[in-house]
Amino acid sequence: MIIVMKPQADKRDVEHIVHMIEEKGLTAHLSEGSEVTIIGVVGDKSRLSASNLEIASGVDKIIPVTESYKLANRKFHPEPTIVSVGATEIGPNNLTIMSGPCAIESEEQLLATARAVKAAGANILRGGAYKPRTSPYSFQGLEEEGLRYMKTAREETGMAVVCEVTSAKAIEAAVKYVDMLQIGARNMQNFELLKEAGKTGLPVLLKRGLSSTIDEWLNAAEYIIAEGNYNVVLCERGIRTYETATRNTLDLSAVPVIRAKSHLPIIVDPSHATGVRAYVAPLAKAAVAAGADGLMIETHPCPERALSDGPQSLTFDQFQELCTELRPYAALAGRTF
Ligand code: PEP
Ligand code: MN
Repeated sequence: MIIVMKPQADKRDVEHIVHMIEEKGLTAHLSEGSEVTIIGVVGDKSRLSASNLEIASGVDKIIPVTESYKLANRKFHPEPTIVSVGATEIGPNNLTIMSGPCAIESEEQLLATARAVKAAGANILRGGAYKPRTSPYSFQGLEEEGLRYMKTAREETGMAVVCEVTSAKAIEAAVKYVDMLQIGARNMQNFELLKEAGKTGLPVLLKRGLSSTIDEWLNAAEYIIAEGNYNVVLCERGIRTYETATRNTLDLSAVPVIRAKSHLPIIVDPSHATGVRAYVAPLAKAAVAAGADGLMIETHPCPERALSDGPQSLTFDQFQELCTELRPYAALAGRTF
């Protein structure tokens, strides 16, 4: 449930309600807006009497929260969350572009890509060091060596860097090198991994599972936030449907749906959603028009030589062109880019 305080409620009224919640062994989460304070309750609410709370001083109303995710819920936290990654603020004011290769293949490949995407306007460098491949015989990533190259790229370009982590061991290594952890689609419901990522306190980019509902996705975010880490950014990357013309089907409706249900920022990855280079730019523009807070786009110095996801990777020129084309869309959406 959430308890909405009256505009004239004072600090003592709020403290009293928090005390009533905590003495029953539940947790209170405060969201102090410009007009009113909202107190979210997490725990077994059968121990609390809503009618007693309703008559307490300063209380306006009690609203039940029927969704199982609470901390990720917009009802708990009506203001949009802004997640800072390095110098970039991911949220309603900006269009954040994350770009880079699917997999880190060598220092030269990564540095060349970092320089090119930065020059085109990207804010955050992406690159996979631990690759969750469908086949065990496909390139699995450079692991810690790849993370070291990411750190070098960050030092050289000043860009923040994001890397996928696929295990607790990968998290242990990644925290030494990266600014943001990525949880991939295949691990969206790896709850132990979500908890470990939450505990690091680093911003987490949480991709939507291959066949996950929005409800399951927000519950996955809840696992991270429940560790005290509100720095979660959601990423729609396409879902499985009967359609085979694209690698996945981009669920663009996820953008307004997430906006209605959660305060967390949401970005869109048209590269993995389509699997086809030619479809990346139109869907990137559509995502901005739909209200996405950012984009994740794969780029490669020479896509035909890429060790993974070459067919969906943009060349540097194509990425530069896309960024130029995106500027009026960002301006229309009221975002700085
Ligand atoms: C990736 O971003 O490199 C990736 C593997 O994406 P996803 O988890 O969305 O498939
Ligand atoms: Mn990829």
